[in-house]
Amino acid sequence: MSEQRSEAATVLTRALNDARDTVQAWITSGREWPQPAMGGRTVPAQPASNPDPEPPAAAVCKHTGLRAGDRVRTWPYDGDPVPVRGTEVEAGVGTVWVLLADGSTTASHRVRLAAYGCPVCGACAGPVDGAVVTRPCSDCLRDLRRLEQRSSEGPRIRTAIEARSEAGRATARSLDSAWLGERAAERGRWARRLRLASPEDLHAALLGAFTRAFERWAA
Ligand SMILES: [Zn+2]
Repeated sequence: MSEQRSEAATVLTRALNDARDTVQAWITSGREWPQPAMGGRTVPAQPASNPDPEPPAAAVCKHTGLRAGDRVRTWPYDGDPVPVRGTEVEAGVGTVWVLLADGSTTASHRVRLAAYGCPVCGACAGPVDGAVVTRPCSDCLRDLRRLEQRSSEGPRIRTAIEARSEAGRATARSLDSAWLGERAAERGRWARRLRLASPEDLHAALLGAFTRAFERWAA
């Protein structure tokens, strides 16, 4: 493993471990989850006099890739986005529950990220309302973990990214967002260029892209 890749892997592993520890600490402490990073309908407003409205970055759930403040839509995915308060794993059955700011709780497979664009693959979702977040999509977070475990997954992951960029372009068109559409197109071109890369170069390029996106978002 080259020095650069080894370093990237170390940084990434540390970030994932930190995220897991933080989630565990929050769950164990029984404390309230941190304030959502974006405006939520039912979250108390910050005092107007607060000179620093920037909330601390919340931890990332290793099961869902969600963190407090993310906005999601629940099945059938046509309602208004609701901010996430946190997640809980049900002991025994292992169902992951997503706790929402409106007080409801929904199984994670019935929750979809809303109002975001993925800087790795270009996947995106509406509504485009001024609070669209740039963050890795849940598929890219899953692919990152797979790539960490098996570098031979590279070609399959590259193909999946190319497909997601196509879907992202279609979504951006339906949202009438030139910005999201251009990014999805650019990510598609990036993935296509990697068709010709050697396995080592492909692995490094994917890991680098995932790591940059993850670190910028989770910082
Ligand atoms: Zn993605």
